[in-house]
Amino acid sequence: MPAPRRLFVTTALPYANAPLHIGHIMEYIQADVWVRFQRLKGSEVHFVCADDAHGAPIMLKAEGEGITPQALVARIAAGRPQYLKGFHISFDYWHSTDSPENVELSQDIYLRLKAAGLIYSKPVEQFYDPVKNMFLADRYIKGECPKCHAKDQYGDACEVCGTVYAPTDLVNPYSSLSGAEPVLRTSDHYFFKLSDPRCADFLKSWIDEPGHLQAQVANKAREWLEGKADRPLGDWDISRDAPYFGIPIPDAPGKFFYVWLDAPVGYLASFRKYCELKGMDFEAFLNAPGTEQVHFIGKDIIYFHTLFWPAMLKFAGTPYKVPDNVHVHGFLTVSGEKMSKSRGTGISPLKYLELGMNPEWLRYYIAAKLNAGVEDLDFNPDDFVARVNSDLVGKLVNIASRSAGFISRHFGGQLAATLQDPALQSDFATAGKHIADLYETRDFAAAIREIMALADRANRYVDDNKPWLLAKDPARLADVQAVCTQSLNLFRLLAIYLQPVLPVMVAQVETFFQAKPFAWSDAAHPLLGTRINEYAPLATRVDPKVMDVLFGLPAEVAPPAPAPPAAPVAVAAPVKPAEPGAAEITVEEFAKIDLRIARIAKAATVEGADKLLQLTLDLGNGERTVFAGIRSAYAPEALVGRLTVVVANLKPRKMRFGTSEGMVLAAGPGGQDIFLLSPDTGAQPGMKVK
Ligand SMILES: [Zn+2]
Repeated sequence: MPAPRRLFVTTALPYANAPLHIGHIMEYIQADVWVRFQRLKGSEVHFVCADDAHGAPIMLKAEGEGITPQALVARIAAGRPQYLKGFHISFDYWHSTDSPENVELSQDIYLRLKAAGLIYSKPVEQFYDPVKNMFLADRYIKGECPKCHAKDQYGDACEVCGTVYAPTDLVNPYSSLSGAEPVLRTSDHYFFKLSDPRCADFLKSWIDEPGHLQAQVANKAREWLEGKADRPLGDWDISRDAPYFGIPIPDAPGKFFYVWLDAPVGYLASFRKYCELKGMDFEAFLNAPGTEQVHFIGKDIIYFHTLFWPAMLKFAGTPYKVPDNVHVHGFLTVSGEKMSKSRGTGISPLKYLELGMNPEWLRYYIAAKLNAGVEDLDFNPDDFVARVNSDLVGKLVNIASRSAGFISRHFGGQLAATLQDPALQSDFATAGKHIADLYETRDFAAAIREIMALADRANRYVDDNKPWLLAKDPARLADVQAVCTQSLNLFRLLAIYLQPVLPVMVAQVETFFQAKPFAWSDAAHPLLGTRINEYAPLATRVDPKVMDVLFGLPAEVAPPAPAPPAAPVAVAAPVKPAEPGAAEITVEEFAKIDLRIARIAKAATVEGADKLLQLTLDLGNGERTVFAGIRSAYAPEALVGRLTVVVANLKPRKMRFGTSEGMVLAAGPGGQDIFLLSPDTGAQPGMKVK
């Protein structure tokens, strides 16, 4: 067996002036799925992130609120856990770039680059706000376009005619911070000499070496390196003048590192702090042979991560190491449009959670759409509902829900000692190799397609073997156990393969199988002769109406309330234990209720009624229709073939969808906690219950 891999994994650091948005969550889910896959394979993984705390925007925002930048960053940082916990993102540590570790590492890397002859300073002429007493970044300068004379244009480009220019080209420029007319002033700036031939030579070989970058990303980086692109390879201005919220440059009073220098160093600072807390040796880990450093980023920051960052690390030297992989993803669009807060097409991650939507729905949807490329990922609400409902509930969970009951009812929860179809099991286990390769290369969409194709096969297996029919014949009970043991073992393999995407649901599956936390290698060993717990519903459907609420359309329905919904028919109203029982009745009164055994011949959802299932009941002397408010707890497929108890002489009740001719009996407060009654083995449809 190969030695476990040693991985240090990061996501891009979010800027600490605002809460996380859905684009951050998408990136974290992507990295988290990969990290969880590595852990499942037995790798040693350390997964860290941090708040990107420095720079002028945070300094100015804090000033505007009359607080310190540190207080602003602390407030934003305090809001992070609800997102990370909410979507089950399993970072090992979350730090801040405004930390002693980052000061030390950033200054150390700078001094090493300086010693290597890659840092120099030169005077730079730049606009200065004489009222705020600070140099102005381009985005804080406005004025009249030199070409079309549109007013109030930014310092880098005209939004009206599209002309690109320098801020010094603006007519009547003014500071957007104070309104004052900026003046040109000269100041010494520090530069990282990316144009040095050593950097270019190193970067060329690093970019060309397979495995570091996706092909599209390597092509882009190569264009920049060769000066062919829109952006010639130049030296990098890494200093900013006071006042600036950042890390001081050693031996240069009044100068600070530009935020983009210390932000990626924040990956290392976070990891170093984590190492301290865990008693690990930071430098020894980075320098051990085989250690891999992996960064997940968006396509907007490729330039920093494929040119500056590897070169900084390379020429800073040991203990720093160059990244082994920088993995780039595209942006998230919504229904084909780029997200925009002003147009309201964004998805608020907090609103998603507050509506009680299952975070694993989003994890699954994003995984099902993410391939290994840098294309944008489109979130389409209808597609989201369709995929979650048909894949997770209709296919995956269905395999377990239609098999588990037989094992519990007839065999005391014990699985058979042998598989009914070992070749089928072996097919499913062998498929794990390809699925693992797809996870490894981050082609999650292809992995999910493979897994769902297996789920289709598992469902066909159950359809073909019909345990509900076998169960009617006492002589064939052993076959029922064999078939259901087989289908539950197939289901278990699918759960192992989906654990990186659905960690919480799969933890429930582990409990159901009375199993230890799954490992990828468990797929080779079926569970035989062991016991399972009673099956509890693993997933519910997305109500399409909740998507309207998520996207801010007028709410037709209230968001799912924590209280159990009132059941329209069939399920008794929730009874609190403290409530007194009903009034006494006589045997004669009870005898008026005609209770019968019924077999559920068909079960279907009801268009326009999200709590109801339409049941076709076989009472031995013909069929009748009953609407039951049990949809929140039962997939219709799971009910077909099973026996239950029905009130057969209830006055038929006309409903919007048809007439309900009876009432099936169930216990429980509602929601997922609805438990349909079942007779013992041997009962037949039509038998009277007395
Ligand atoms: Zn213009």
